[in-house]
Amino acid sequence: MNILIVDDKPDNLYLLEVLLKANGHTILSAANGEEALQTLQTEGVDLIVSDILMPVMDGFQLCRRIRADERLRHIPFIVYTATYTGPKDEEFALKIGADSFLLKPCEPDVFMATIDEVMAASRSRDPSRAPAPAPEGEVLKLYSERLVRKLEKKMVDLEAEIQERKRIQEELRQSEEKYRTLVENAEDIVCILQDGQFKFQNQRFEALLGYNPGELINQDFMELICAEDRAMVMERIRRILDGDPRGTPISYRIVHKTGQFIWASSTASRVMWEGRPALLTFIRNITRQKEIEEQFHHAQRLESVGRLAGGVAHDFNNMLGVIIGYAELAKLKIDPQDPLSENLEEILMAARRSIDITRQLLAFARKQATEPKVLDLNRAVEDMLKMLRRLIGEDIDLSWKPGESLGLIRIDPSQVDQILANLCVNARDAISGVGKIVIQTENARFGKDYCMDHPDFIPGEYVLLMVSDTGCGMSRETMARLFEPFFTTKEVGKGTGLGLATVYGIVKQNGGFIHVYSEPGMGTTFRIYLPRHSEAAPLADAEVIGESAMGHGELVLLVEDEPAILNMGKQMLETLGYRVLATADTDEAMTLAERHAGQISLLITDMIMPKMNGHDLAARLCPRYPGLKTLFISGYTTDIIDPAGLCGNGVHFLQKPFSVHQLATSVRKTLENSP
Ligand code: ADP
Ligand code: MG
Repeated sequence: MNILIVDDKPDNLYLLEVLLKANGHTILSAANGEEALQTLQTEGVDLIVSDILMPVMDGFQLCRRIRADERLRHIPFIVYTATYTGPKDEEFALKIGADSFLLKPCEPDVFMATIDEVMAASRSRDPSRAPAPAPEGEVLKLYSERLVRKLEKKMVDLEAEIQERKRIQEELRQSEEKYRTLVENAEDIVCILQDGQFKFQNQRFEALLGYNPGELINQDFMELICAEDRAMVMERIRRILDGDPRGTPISYRIVHKTGQFIWASSTASRVMWEGRPALLTFIRNITRQKEIEEQFHHAQRLESVGRLAGGVAHDFNNMLGVIIGYAELAKLKIDPQDPLSENLEEILMAARRSIDITRQLLAFARKQATEPKVLDLNRAVEDMLKMLRRLIGEDIDLSWKPGESLGLIRIDPSQVDQILANLCVNARDAISGVGKIVIQTENARFGKDYCMDHPDFIPGEYVLLMVSDTGCGMSRETMARLFEPFFTTKEVGKGTGLGLATVYGIVKQNGGFIHVYSEPGMGTTFRIYLPRHSEAAPLADAEVIGESAMGHGELVLLVEDEPAILNMGKQMLETLGYRVLATADTDEAMTLAERHAGQISLLITDMIMPKMNGHDLAARLCPRYPGLKTLFISGYTTDIIDPAGLCGNGVHFLQKPFSVHQLATSVRKTLENSP
């Protein structure tokens, strides 16, 4: 058979040609309807197989033209198409005179069977009754219907595509928003480093380091790191890029845009960024933690120095007691006109000055004997003002701003004096020429939250004593060592370095804390917070001292493990007119008490002794010998050796070292006032 294939696609033409040739047919081809009509003018054709969509003239038109042409209308016509808008297409093709409608791609068997069917139908058909095309009007209607169908289908497809795109876009936006929320709201800096440079930074970067977002993109990360820490950071980066597991965070200093250091703790992990290895880095600001750590270490250092200083001062104090005691005894025994008397007086004066220094050390170490009283800080300051004015001289203006409705505090009044004197003298020394010192008081309170951030602070109600000056201020280095005993920036002979150590000790002993603010050239402010006392202030104790300081032959049991003090105490007491049983051993003390049962009027005992402490000794002897009175002596403060606070409630206490006069007074007081 001679078969004419009409298709604008060469590939389609070729495939059909191969198939039909293989089945023994001769093939003619045309690229569109127009070409096909031309071919039909000259060639005899037995069958036409035509595509629908073609340029110049489509398959439907070609079919209509053939069916309208007397000479051609008998040729069977198969529509073979890939464009299918629905079953109406086939209906339409048949209406305009096609013999069959096939959809591409079609199995060769089916295709060949269709050709056979069409040919058989055509042969059995009366050639004069070849299929006639539908009338023009109907065709146009069918055409436009088909077009509308096609368009409608396109529209539906387009709409579906739009919806699908929208869905994806949305989804994309949602997931991007989620990631943005995570990254941009993180407390830590999140950044990407590649080839040592920033490729991405979240907003925290600006808040923590002062650089605008994007300002550092493509800048070297290392330039932001404190020079001393660079090697360590580089090493860690190298290890992570080499595939080492993440490991523990590292701490290093980053330079803020203003030039200040920020302590950072960071972790990093290897990621791919735009196709190449990079570091995903998290950076946390730990500056505050570092400060708190530093403060803690500072406090620890002071504690240990305090313990050391206190221990030394305690032993030294005992020796001073011995020196003073013997010098006093010697003085009592020689004629006041004797030239040696003056020498002894010099020894006594030097020893007393040394006691002041050891007192300061003991105060720093919180071992000084104190007599806390409930008092009004405003009154205590006012009582001192005259003295302070004299202390600071006329060039410096001292102004006093008492706080209103100020709470009460419980402290040894002499300690307030010591604090004020030390702070004012320091302020005076810091002012060259004319300047101003302000003393101010007010109530203060700290909540839990505040104290969490300030490890030195304890929540509660406080009374604030503030001393500020317009002096030279302090460097960071000085601030760091301010409270250390013996730390001074003053010339030899001018400063002892014990002033602030003492203030620190006093404040700590009273449960308070100190805050210092100072900058070089900008003056200094000391804030001292002392716990507010809740009870009403009792009336000040009346000083009761016995008329006669001398003894009348009363028998005294003296127990003291330090032999030098024991001997001295014995001599002092005998000089004062007492009879003395002296021992360094508590067991022997018990034996002595038994042997002199009922004769002993007074037990004088050291508090801290190796075998048994003074308390326990007294607790054993007193119930056994009614009328026996007790005087405790110790180099420690009452709050260390007497946490129960028995001293002052009928229990008598004498701080070592003591003078003959102090001993005389304490002994009389104990004998006459004990219950
Ligand atoms: P000292 O006064 O004997 O030097 P302190 O313990 O009282 O010892 O003070 C220690 C150091 O603290 C001082 O030498 C000084 O450098 C510094 N200092 C204390 N108070 C002030 C102040 N108000 N202004 C400036 N520096 C001060
Ligand atoms: Mg000082």
